[in-house]
Formats: sequence, C-alpha cells, structure tokens
Amino acid sequence: MVAATGCLSASNKPDFPSLADFAGATYHTGHWPHEGVDFTGKRVAVIGTGSSAIQSIPIIAAQATELTVFQRTANYSVPAHNAPLAPEYKRDIKASYAEMRRRARTMIAGIDMKPNMVSALDVSEEDRRREFEARWAQGGIPFMGSFGDLLLNGQSNQTAADFVRGKIREVVKDPAVADLLSPKNIIGCKRLCVDTDYYATFNRPNVRLVDVSEKPVEGFTREGVEAAGNEYKVDAVVFATGFDAMTGALLRIDFRGRGGQPLRDKWAEGPRSYLGLSIAGFPNLFTVTGPGSPSVFTNMLPSIEQHVDWIADCIGHMRQRGLRTIEADGAAEDAWVAHNGQIARATLRSTCSSWYLGANVPGKPRVFMPYIGGFPAYVQKCEAVVKNGYEGFALA
Ligand SMILES: Cc1cc2nc3c(=O)[nH]c(=O)nc-3n(C[C@H](O)[C@H](O)[C@H](O)COP(=O)(O)OP(=O)(O)OC[C@H]3O[C@@H](n4cnc5c(N)ncnc54)[C@H](O)[C@@H]3O)c2cc1C
Repeated sequence: MVAATGCLSASNKPDFPSLADFAGATYHTGHWPHEGVDFTGKRVAVIGTGSSAIQSIPIIAAQATELTVFQRTANYSVPAHNAPLAPEYKRDIKASYAEMRRRARTMIAGIDMKPNMVSALDVSEEDRRREFEARWAQGGIPFMGSFGDLLLNGQSNQTAADFVRGKIREVVKDPAVADLLSPKNIIGCKRLCVDTDYYATFNRPNVRLVDVSEKPVEGFTREGVEAAGNEYKVDAVVFATGFDAMTGALLRIDFRGRGGQPLRDKWAEGPRSYLGLSIAGFPNLFTVTGPGSPSVFTNMLPSIEQHVDWIADCIGHMRQRGLRTIEADGAAEDAWVAHNGQIARATLRSTCSSWYLGANVPGKPRVFMPYIGGFPAYVQKCEAVVKNGYEGFALA
C-alpha cells in the first residue's frame, strides 16, 4: 500500500455547532468550488489569516461589498511579484531545467535558490538592509535565505522580523491596523506566506480587520458571525482555517497493522515513522512525504520524486529476490524519531504554535512532524539505508 494522500489535503474546519443556524453560504479554501465563486454585492467574512487567507483576501476584497477578516494571529508575508514572464527569461529557464533541478536537489529546501550563509549579526546594518531589500524585491520564500542563521539565532531572526514589520507600517495607512497586522513572533516559525497586495488590501474602505486573539470567534447567528462580543452581519463565510497537516489524511483512513493495531492508536501521542517512509508494525505500507520526512520544509516535487523512486526501487529489489514483506524495525524507528526531535529543538521553528507541530487542530498531539535536517542530508540517509541492505528494515 502506497499512501500518496498528501501532507495538506485533509482540511481543518473548526466545529461550530451554531454554524447550522447561519443562513448564508459557507466555503473552505481547501474545498473551493470548481466553478468559482462570485462575491459581487456580498458581505463576506474570512476566518483565518494563514497562507490561503493571505492569498484570497485581496481577491475577495476586490469583489465583495464588504469584507471582514477575523485574525487570531498575524502572519508574516513577503511579496510574490507574480507577473508575465519575459520570453527570454522563459527560454533560459526551459533551456536549463535539468541543471536547475540538479542544483535544487543540492539545496537544503530542495529549492533552486542562493542562500547567503553569513550571519545576520556579522554585517553592518546597512548591508543587512541591502540584503533584505534585494530579497524583498525578488519576492517569495527565498527571503528566509537572506542570512544563514535566521532560524537558529533569535537576534538574527529579529532583524528580519523588524524589516518586514517596517514594510507593513510603510504600506498600511492606519497605524492601529498596521500594528494588528504586524506579527510579534519569530519570522519563518510558522510557514512564511507569499502574497499579492495583502497588506495594501487593508487600506480599502470596504475591508475591516477584527482581532480575535483574546476573544475568539464564538459562533454564528442566522445573519452572521459572533466574535469578540459583537455580531458581524455577513452573506458568506470563508473558512481559511487550513489543514490537519501531515497526519490528517493518513489518520482519516483506518489503517491496521500487525495484530489489527489501528494507526490511530500507534500515533495517539504523535506520528512515529522510520524516515517518514515506513511505520514499524505496518508491513508493506509506504507513506509518500510522511511525517518524519523533509516534505513540507522542501520544494515538495523533488521530495515526492525521491520517495516515489525509493519506493519503486525497493519494490523492484523485493520482487527480484522473491521477498514479500518489508517492515521498519522498531529500534530504527525510535532512533529516527529521537533524531528528528533533537534537530527540531535546535531551531527556532519548534518554538511557536504552528501546523508543523499540530497546534492548529484542537486535541492534536504537539509533535514536530517534518524532518528539518534538509533535503540533501535526508537523501544521503535514504541512500545509505539501501546501500547497507535496507538497514533498519526487516525483509522477509
Ligand atoms: C494552498 C497550498 C499551496 C501549496 N503550495 C505549494 C508550493 O508552492 N510548493 C510546494 O512544493 N508545495 C506546495 N503545497 C504543498 C502541496 O501539498 C504539494 O506540493 C503537493 O500538492 C503534494 O502532492 P501530493 O500528491 O503528495 O498530495 P496532494 O496533491 O495533496 O494529493 C493527495 C491526493 O490524495 C487524495 N486522498 C487523500 N486521502 C484520500 C483517501 N482516503 N482516499 C482517496 N483519496 C485520498 C486527495 O484527495 C488528493 O487528491 C501547497 C499546498 C497547499 C494546500
């Protein structure tokens, strides 16, 4: 069984019993109607300010009569700078696909980018600003590659966070709104977002931001959303509340291992796997980009390809030798889980409430799920496992 069920495919929709009372339309960003939605003439609420909200809010705001955004935690976002591509740029990229992909596979995040390995604290303020400005102008997630220690050193991280907060203040005209939109935590701890005109959208007269960090969304009435002690009348609600990441899709299937053990029981305290590929007690079950693999910390495509190749080679190896079962060894799994936890604790990424550690789903165990040691190190480990006769696996 190859579970290729996705890291971010099981949507997370908060359970509000009073939602049944709401007379308007409701949507989840992860289940968007294929025929599209037209909010023209509508009052709309967006609940959540994560990646999907940040990308959809500017578009909804341009259509709707009124948009109310309910924010629990402000998020950092960098510009996408999406634009038509110049023909020569397209030509150059297409001419070097193979080389780009090869380079990407040597990068920690599997993304073909140029990380600057210098510490943010080892350069002058002027040079630091120049680097941040250049990355900002380039756009996208490689902003976090501005300096080598942004996710290792709190002080370095602060310089990047201050830079982005400064950008928010430059764009957002109302200082109180700018302050609410300015994240207070570590930049890059939660997944860094990428946007087109997100912050500027809050300058529009038809957009309002409601802070629900202290007083949460309480529920729904026939006509709207109850939050922070007020009723906000709306015609439609968009839940941009993300996903039950990494384990959600796997646990929604009732996988049973040896002796009928449910995967849900095995993972009651959080996911345990060997390499994010295989689970002790669950022979012949492979997980593509499972918890414990680099997955969501990488460009997913090389990570998926590497897993699919590894699994295909493994099945080929077994077929050639007439082997029928492969199963991760409990001790190898324990060692991998311990190693994952150890390296996760060394980075700032383990210090905040994020979906990487299940914090967005009520009751989900807080375990840092993706492997943070980087794509090349991980690939090397997987290759060494094979070279050493599928070390850590029992084949029979
Ligand atoms: C909004 C968003 C933006 C993203 N942007 C990027 C990006 O820019 N770069 C990047 O690298 N990654 C991005 N990702 C991550 C993305 O998940 C992967 O890039 C990619 O889609 C993963 O491919 P996959 O085949 O592993 O999983 P998916 O594309 O999620 O496919 C999983 C499939 O399994 C199906 N499935 C799940 N459970 C069951 C079941 N029980 N029975 C039957 N079918 C089932 C699902 O319906 C789905 O079709 C993004 C994710 C989201 C949600």
